[in-house]
Amino acid sequence: MTTNHTEPGNDFQSFGFRPELLSGIAEAGFQTPSPIQRQAMPLVLEGKDLIAQAQTGTGKTAAYGLPCLNRIEIKEGMQVLVLTPTRELALQVSDELYRLGKNLGIKTTTIYGGASYSKQISQVTKGAQVAVATPGRLLDLLKGKELKNFKPTMVVLDEADEMLDMGFLEDIESIFGFLPEERQTLLFSATMPDAIKKLASRYLDHPAHVKIAATEKSSKNIEQVYYVIDEQERDNAVVRVLDYENPFKAIIFTKTKKEADDLKTNLGFKGYAVEALHGDLSQKQRESVLKSLHDGRIKILVATDVAARGLDVKDLSLVINFHLPFDSESYTHRIGRTGRAGKSGKAVTFVTTRESRALLRLKGTSGTELTFAALPTKKEVQARRHQDFLTKILETEIHADAEALFQTLCEKEGKEAVSLKILSQILDKVKISGPEKIGKHPSEWNETPPPSKKRGSGGGDRRRGGGRSNSSNSSSSSSYRGEGRRESSSGSGRSGKDGGSGSKGGTKPHRFRNK
Ligand code: ADP
Ligand code: MG
Repeated sequence: MTTNHTEPGNDFQSFGFRPELLSGIAEAGFQTPSPIQRQAMPLVLEGKDLIAQAQTGTGKTAAYGLPCLNRIEIKEGMQVLVLTPTRELALQVSDELYRLGKNLGIKTTTIYGGASYSKQISQVTKGAQVAVATPGRLLDLLKGKELKNFKPTMVVLDEADEMLDMGFLEDIESIFGFLPEERQTLLFSATMPDAIKKLASRYLDHPAHVKIAATEKSSKNIEQVYYVIDEQERDNAVVRVLDYENPFKAIIFTKTKKEADDLKTNLGFKGYAVEALHGDLSQKQRESVLKSLHDGRIKILVATDVAARGLDVKDLSLVINFHLPFDSESYTHRIGRTGRAGKSGKAVTFVTTRESRALLRLKGTSGTELTFAALPTKKEVQARRHQDFLTKILETEIHADAEALFQTLCEKEGKEAVSLKILSQILDKVKISGPEKIGKHPSEWNETPPPSKKRGSGGGDRRRGGGRSNSSNSSSSSSYRGEGRRESSSGSGRSGKDGGSGSKGGTKPHRFRNK
């Protein structure tokens, strides 16, 4: 697929973008358009209304952003309005549009709640051509007649499913009442529930449709496992996974704000650099949390679904579902945070035996490769840590003072004893904690194969029984093969990155590379 250079759409030049835009694309490091970009951009350039569906992380922002930027007339005044569900997303989108369009001399403004009204108003009146807004604040400004000459001719509903989930339907409808009739309207969404289709049928005019099949999505390079644990094992299980994976950056999804706070505190005590992101934080706090994740001052974010909507966190190597997500859409959204832009990622989900029915439903509806695995034992994690540690030692450059100190020590004791003592000192620092074994191992867990069509006839109870005693049904035992898989997928690929987690070391985290 990648070798065919002549096919139109395989590079950004073939879309006929303005040179200033092409240089912005190059500076952003984009080399080839993603599938959604290839399909959506020509339609948007033609001025068509469009409904576009593609997974999270597939480059939807540029898919509408580039052609819209290209269509902007070089004069002052509002032309493009992008509606996004959250403030963070609004900032993210406007950053991306600014980055791509900066050589065109286009001014971009962001309109969201919790920040000064006057600044947002003045930027619009000062002639910004692009506004990225959350629905609530924008509607406030429109109702208050604060925005003069606000007549965008291109309107984008970005992450439309998330906006509806967050209860913005009415606001969006009201906003359309303030927009010019004569306009191009685009709707981008990761999922297409009926409510979105209905919304589209009301406000889009003979829209074209583009859909990138979910199988072509980024989850191809996401390894997805679930661990079966008891309710009270959750906290220990998180620590175990973090110790084992030693992720470059990770996000942990919790159900509630309180759970997010508790987990943050708990992990903080254990020495992890961690923050929580949820709806109770002030705008300032949220921005500061995201910045510290971005800068690498923290490596772990504990977040609720809502707080993490659409966030594009770079270099996320691990997603942990502290609980089984409620539905397959939430699951897909969450795991889409990792494995972006062709990089590999891992998604880990904790499931209790009581949730086995929900698990099967999720597997059925999401159509993903979610496989059972046993949580690594303490011994396994410790062995892995030691291995990483050995690699590091062998790569270490000898410190100028080390020789003299070593001689001094050796005068007191033999070389071997001194070396072993030094090693032991350091080994104490990579010691991991927690119980030896957490969660169910293959002999203790049977995932019955998804029932053909008629499910819900007490299947869940059967499974619970099967979990405790070994199932007598031999055919069902073939449905999990987690054991060997985890072993093979575990080490090699990741250890290089792990080595670099401290900071420089010899092994650079390749996730840091620019694309
Ligand atoms: P979505 O809205 O589909 O979730 P985004 O628009 O947030 O995805 O894009 C995800 C990431 O991929 C962003 O960091 C973006 O800069 C990057 N990206 C988008 N298009 C390309 C491309 N053609 N080449 C390289 N990176 C890209
Ligand atoms: Mg997006």
